Amino acid sequence: MSLPKLEYCQARTIEEALNMWAEKTAARYIAGGTDLLPQLRAGSRAPLRVVDLKYIENLAKIRQVEDGSVSIGAAASVAQVAADASVRQHYPILVDCCLSLGSYPLRNRATVVGNICNASPCADTSAALLALEAVVVTAGPKAKRRIPIGDFFKGPGESCLQAGELVVEIILPKATSGGRGHYGRIARRKSVDISTVAVLVSVLPKGQPRHRLSLLSVAPTPLRVFEAEAVLDERGPEGASQAAEIARASCTPINDVRGSAEYRWDMVGVLTERGVMTLAESIGR
Ligand SMILES: Cc1cc2nc3c(=O)[nH]c(=O)nc-3n(C[C@H](O)[C@H](O)[C@H](O)COP(=O)(O)OP(=O)(O)OC[C@H]3O[C@@H](n4cnc5c(N)ncnc54)[C@H](O)[C@@H]3O)c2cc1C
Repeated sequence: MSLPKLEYCQARTIEEALNMWAEKTAARYIAGGTDLLPQLRAGSRAPLRVVDLKYIENLAKIRQVEDGSVSIGAAASVAQVAADASVRQHYPILVDCCLSLGSYPLRNRATVVGNICNASPCADTSAALLALEAVVVTAGPKAKRRIPIGDFFKGPGESCLQAGELVVEIILPKATSGGRGHYGRIARRKSVDISTVAVLVSVLPKGQPRHRLSLLSVAPTPLRVFEAEAVLDERGPEGASQAAEIARASCTPINDVRGSAEYRWDMVGVLTERGVMTLAESIGR
């Protein structure tokens, strides 16, 4: 299907973007457009106006903040994030998740912020952002907000963003830097396919809990399994099968073209156990 007729606006500042959104009913923000444009083509969303955020000064920047955290601007592409030296050094688990998303050309276009704003349960970067306890910074008609990523997702395609509110940046806290992880991902094809099931097992050098377990494509939102994390903190790799059972019990998967609910339940267990063991081996080496 071709794109519906729509008005395209380029914002140069955050304030301009907020105003451009407010002037029209059914306006939408656009960054890379890799989710929004196919949705518009399919007729699933019909804005009269799209407000492009990519031309806002500094919005594509990734920068190390004085307090040691790292800020990812809303227009920074997935490829940019995966190649950034400070992200690679301090948050390698986010790099792994970024490199699992789509293809080279797609990652050059798609943004990490667009990935979470689309609020899909299979958004690859959300697995790492949940583990890292990232903070989403927004600007809106009413106020600026700092939203813990754990509160951001509300359901398939639904985030906690209010009407007109836009994400300015994602903050990766210093407290969760230095973690290592194993990202296990099953899809119908090796590349350019969203996951049928994905599990990120990670361990941080400090912090409570030290282990983190994020699951994708097995619930209405990306999921963190705190109970399993506590088991891994207490028992280490010996708790792998117990953690896998808890992970399975926390899922509410659906049957769809990518796989059955039963298959997803099984694979969550397999990927959790495998992730814990592989990570333990790589750390022990
Ligand atoms: C062929 C193909 C393969 C794909 N494979 C994968 C995959 O393997 N894994 C995966 O996770 N995803 C995949 N995707 C989905 C998509 O590429 C990602 O979700 C991408 O990161 C979205 O970023 P974007 O900048 O293109 O978002 P856009 O399409 O520009 O926007 C997505 C949504 O977020 C909103 N939005 C964007 N920026 C902001 C902002 N700053 N504030 C508020 N709202 C905002 C938009 O209004 C829209 O609703 C794939 C898509 C395609 C077409």
